[in-house]
Amino acid sequence: NKQVILNNYVVGFPKESDMSIVEGTITLKVPEGSSDLLLKNLYLSCDPYMRFFMTKEDNPLGIGTYKLHSALRGDGVSQVVESGHPDYKKGDLVYARTRWEEYSLIPSSEICLKIEHTDLPLSYYIGVLGVSGLTAYAGFFEVGSPQKGDNVFVSAASGAIGQLVGQFAKLNGCYVVGSAGSKDKVDLLKNKLGFDEAFNYKEEPDLNAALKRYFPEGIDIYFENVGGKTLDAVLPNMRLHGRIVVCGMISQYNLTQPEGVTNLAHLIFKRVKMEGFLIIDFFHLFPKFLEFVVPLIREGKVVYVEDIVEGLENGPAALVGLFSGRNVGKQVVDVSRE
Ligand code: NDP
Repeated sequence: NKQVILNNYVVGFPKESDMSIVEGTITLKVPEGSSDLLLKNLYLSCDPYMRFFMTKEDNPLGIGTYKLHSALRGDGVSQVVESGHPDYKKGDLVYARTRWEEYSLIPSSEICLKIEHTDLPLSYYIGVLGVSGLTAYAGFFEVGSPQKGDNVFVSAASGAIGQLVGQFAKLNGCYVVGSAGSKDKVDLLKNKLGFDEAFNYKEEPDLNAALKRYFPEGIDIYFENVGGKTLDAVLPNMRLHGRIVVCGMISQYNLTQPEGVTNLAHLIFKRVKMEGFLIIDFFHLFPKFLEFVVPLIREGKVVYVEDIVEGLENGPAALVGLFSGRNVGKQVVDVSRE
């Protein structure tokens, strides 16, 4: 049972060498009388939040850290091999909080969803049909309170969440601009994902000027994925009564000294509502979200870009690549052939 384990706690940017591939020793059997499930993992999700579990101190969410020399925990799509729980049987496909290994023995409470729409790619259940999709949906519609015609700016726009926020905003009749870190990503945003405009933030010497160019009348909704300099440039460009949906601040996660934000006073001048959220508070919306998004995918009105690497041994590089923008779209590790 091949596994990806954490070798040491991480300070600063995570590196591939912080993780190793080892041969683990779990018993591939559900213990007698237990309601656990033995899963064959098929697709593993690379998520920025996994960095919070790599620190020695408890993470800011207060939900523990990874145990050194054990398989990383993460979201995955898996197939039930053996079940001690009456709701699941051998062969069922599930979206679960699993581990970075070929087979996992997990309590049934770690199952998030039994997969039913199997005509769609299974990997979608850790992307557009999983937490990434739900985060885009809840963040944009519930926290952002969009109105038709709003001017929407999305950072990390080509990523797992950003690409969906942009598409949901377009479906809602908004004007949408995205920022991303390469020319290819900018092309993708404009030519495949339907954004009105997009720019490469790494090539803009003055972000404030770039935003003024794309939003001469100001921004109604900023969907925040990156924080730092981008947030600082957005603040003076917000429109009266705008909303800043604080989903993530990936540019800050690896800094030992977070960057300061100097333009917060614009929240007052423009009466802007800035609100953070955690997707765990919106899990009750999962069924409503799937009812919304599955038909849109089937009709081709929502598309989803994935970046799939093959094999557990390529998992560590894919995971750390999130912090340098190596991924184009949702980063997935395909372990189905292990
Ligand atoms: P992505 O698929 O967007 O991958 C991360 C992307 O972030 C990279 O591809 C890169 O794109 C960009 N990035 C990395 N470092 C920087 C930097 N220093 N400055 C600017 N951009 C950077 O990830 P997700 O869509 O899964 O996550 C997006 C955000 O949402 C993250 O901040 C994450 O923590 C947050 N999140 C929040 C949740 C919640 O409950 N609130 C739930 C899930 C995720 P580029 O090439 O464009 O730089």
